Amino acid sequence: MDNDFTSQAAPVTVIGLGLMGRALAGEFLRAGHPTTVWNRTPAKADPLVAEGARLAPTVADALRAGPLTIICVTDYRAMYELIDPIGAELRGRTLVNLTSGTSTQAREAGEWAQQRGAGYLDGAIMAIPSAIGTDEAVLLHSGPQSDFESHRTTLESLGTVTYVGADHGLASLYDVAGLGIMWSVLNAWLHGAALLGVAGVDAATYTPFAQQMVTGVAQWLPGYAEQLDSGSYPADDATLDTHTASMSHLIEESEAQGVNAELPKLIKALADRSIRAGHGGEGYAALIKEFGKANGADQG
Ligand code: NAP
Repeated sequence: MDNDFTSQAAPVTVIGLGLMGRALAGEFLRAGHPTTVWNRTPAKADPLVAEGARLAPTVADALRAGPLTIICVTDYRAMYELIDPIGAELRGRTLVNLTSGTSTQAREAGEWAQQRGAGYLDGAIMAIPSAIGTDEAVLLHSGPQSDFESHRTTLESLGTVTYVGADHGLASLYDVAGLGIMWSVLNAWLHGAALLGVAGVDAATYTPFAQQMVTGVAQWLPGYAEQLDSGSYPADDATLDTHTASMSHLIEESEAQGVNAELPKLIKALADRSIRAGHGGEGYAALIKEFGKANGADQG
């Protein structure tokens, strides 16, 4: 750690005061950090200025205000529009980019920052603005660990702050993996709600059971993770053949009840391919081979 910016009073700059940027700046202020802000539409800073933030007249002035700048704008294009012309101002400072993007964009931005002598962390926010400042707000960071450690205390004002690795692309990859889990769980829950709804069970009645299932399945993940990492998928609980028979029931029930069967058909198509490739006697985690294929096509 070449610098210590860990005190509660460490100054911080926030560029971008949309829904998320305003929440970020507000939490820094509440945590006692002298906070400088800048936004293309300056009026959005008014409530923050009333709480004690300083509105910088230019982006360059905002960057010069301290060792750490958080940027949170619509996309990377907007980020470069703002800071590329004044990148030299970042020399010796650290930029934490909480703008959503891809791992490729994150790695390119890491190189861009390195060429300008700046520290750079790419981040992902797994939360809505109202959760910022609570433990439920998970913020992922990737990039040089020394950059993270230098500013960890300041960043922790925002929620549960996690460092995921030196590769700048990792936060974005965790971000989309997490969103994939979110959409898969939500789609499965909605599909179940539609099925039970046909039988007159309302969503509120069905949902505690759905929560039990999500929590229960989550408990299996560490054991399956060991299988993925070892490359061996013994059927300690149930074979893929057994799972597939139940998948057929889900498809049949859906079609019989007039409920959309696309989701269970997709689930079964993946399992069928894996069985055709000879994995029917293995455990569920053997399906990883289907996800490892670039285009999902049968390869033998
Ligand atoms: P938002 O409310 O639409 O705000 C967008 C911000 O970007 C505003 O400050 C806007 O400035 C600025 N901006 C856009 N284009 C610009 C440009 N060309 N030049 C200068 N400034 C520009 O969006 P948000 O919800 O705050 O989201 C910001 C980022 O956080 C996104 O990458 C989003 O994916 C990510 N995120 C958001 C959430 C969420 O729940 N909201 C959750 C996780 C991640 P003006 O005010 O002048 O328009």
